[in-house]
Amino acid sequence: MTPQRDHSTARSLAELGELLEKLDGRGYKDYKTLQATSFFAAGFVVAIDHVQGDPFADPSRLRAFWDAAEAGLPDGALATDDALRASADFLHRRMGDSFRRASSRIGTGAGGLLETPAPVQQVLTRSAARVGENGGVELRFRVGLPARGRRILGLEAAHLLCETLPAALRAVLPLGDGDSAALLDHVRCVEDAVALRGALEPGGLVAFVADGAILPRRSGVDDHPMARADAVPFRSPEGLRVMIDTPHSGEVGGMGIPAGVTVIAGGGFHGKSTLLRALDRGVYDHRPGDGRERVVAVRDAAKIRAEDGRLVKGTDISNFIRGLPSGADTSSFRTGNASGSTSQAAAIAEALEAGARCLLIDEDTSATNFMIRDARMRRLVPAADEPIVPFVDRTRPLLEHEGTSSILVVGGSGDYFEVADTVLVMKAYLPHEATTLAKEIASASDGAADAELHPEAPEWQPIRPHPSPDGAPRTDRRDRVRVLARDRVRIGRTELNLGAVEQIVSRAQTRAIALALVRLARDRNPEPALLMDAVARLVDVVQRDGLDALQEHPTGDLAEFRMGDLVAALHRLRT
Ligand code: ADP
Ligand code: MG
Repeated sequence: MTPQRDHSTARSLAELGELLEKLDGRGYKDYKTLQATSFFAAGFVVAIDHVQGDPFADPSRLRAFWDAAEAGLPDGALATDDALRASADFLHRRMGDSFRRASSRIGTGAGGLLETPAPVQQVLTRSAARVGENGGVELRFRVGLPARGRRILGLEAAHLLCETLPAALRAVLPLGDGDSAALLDHVRCVEDAVALRGALEPGGLVAFVADGAILPRRSGVDDHPMARADAVPFRSPEGLRVMIDTPHSGEVGGMGIPAGVTVIAGGGFHGKSTLLRALDRGVYDHRPGDGRERVVAVRDAAKIRAEDGRLVKGTDISNFIRGLPSGADTSSFRTGNASGSTSQAAAIAEALEAGARCLLIDEDTSATNFMIRDARMRRLVPAADEPIVPFVDRTRPLLEHEGTSSILVVGGSGDYFEVADTVLVMKAYLPHEATTLAKEIASASDGAADAELHPEAPEWQPIRPHPSPDGAPRTDRRDRVRVLARDRVRIGRTELNLGAVEQIVSRAQTRAIALALVRLARDRNPEPALLMDAVARLVDVVQRDGLDALQEHPTGDLAEFRMGDLVAALHRLRT
């Protein structure tokens, strides 16, 4: 979509300043005279789309527009769709930096604040920044209009809108020479990551980790890379090293994880979970300097975990759990309070329905009884008395019938050696290939007794798809979506917890997903027969018309999301 602006009615900054000074001392509502107006600053136009109702409300919504000549972006910034996405991300970060310096508190409430959603380490398409193919730029942000109590601070407002804000925007665009180089680095980094991801499927791989990558983070709550001095850079094991050609960095060497079943073993604290986390983030591109710029996974790879207490709304978990003593039907399983194993089974079935070609599972966040049943336990409790078909018996059928690979962190059970195509052992944060050794160990153990204890698991059945989405959450106003945290959002009176949907990386994604859920519940005319048809239809609309298709007013508050994460959220929504 090409950013648009309308010069015809824009006023000068001087006029705006006079207007604001006249408003000084008047009631806050008089700020509304600014709504739907625009003004020229040197080099760009600012539009005031919506004025907040009071000093404590969400700050007012504004946009700034540059045409191509004014923005002056280098050609490389516009060459491909990925370049446009990366350029917009770069400008969004610059806006965030500039606003942090220029923002201040004036008077009551949010007065004086200049806001845009916080960036994350991933490069996401956001509604806050768009670069058009022609080189025009649109940025969206919020400004807190200043007041003392409910009286307008007109002089302060004039200073804020006529001086502080234009200066802050001029610090974003146009770019200086050094800035253009940084922008092009950003673009190249993203284009290389896209090329690496694009090479996965043709190369029979589901993920790739480049040599030299920095996987560990500063802390559980800080997604910046661990300091170089402390982090052990990634080095691929000999047997799995591949080279992938990239447009800007030539051949990049690293570990290719083949499609199939991959087990990541190794002692505690040796970096298994850190590797898996980097892979689950590899569905996105990363900013230069993140350390994971060249760590990629297939776009629909799904991180799966147990989540006791979750809601399950008619998911077919019968491939994993059947014959419950309660007699409950597990081919359309419903509960308001799932156990560890049923929640994990539901997460897998739902991910498969949404098209996941690779599952990422960590023992740290799995239900043990879902993952394994050892020989002694199989002796004590025969398969006929055990409703759970452990995942170890399902990895091969998943691959054969659904074409879905698994990457599993298992430090606690050698049962997976049997079913693995690839076994890695993490040692002091570095992977070593151990497939042959693991296979030897597996075949040396008591094979005959094992065969008797491992009767064929029941045949894999195609997952029964969900029928069309059920009712709407209890809200009738679309703007009743409130994001409380990355993993918590209120939709009307319903609170949705997305703590277990771990691949949502930003609050702006959470907001977009929540709006998509409201839309899905409403747009049921004509009603599609299957839930996934309704989801696919909505995803197509967003693909075609952009994130703005989800909102009535242009805000900068949204970011792209994956279909699988939307589906995961949908299944957790109480209606
Ligand atoms: P595991 O899952 O094998 O028990 P983790 O992945 O949780 O281990 O890692 C244990 C600790 O080691 C974490 O604090 C993590 O930040 C740190 N760590 C992981 N990888 C590296 C690395 N490459 N360099 C330095 N520290 C690392
Ligand atoms: Mg771990």
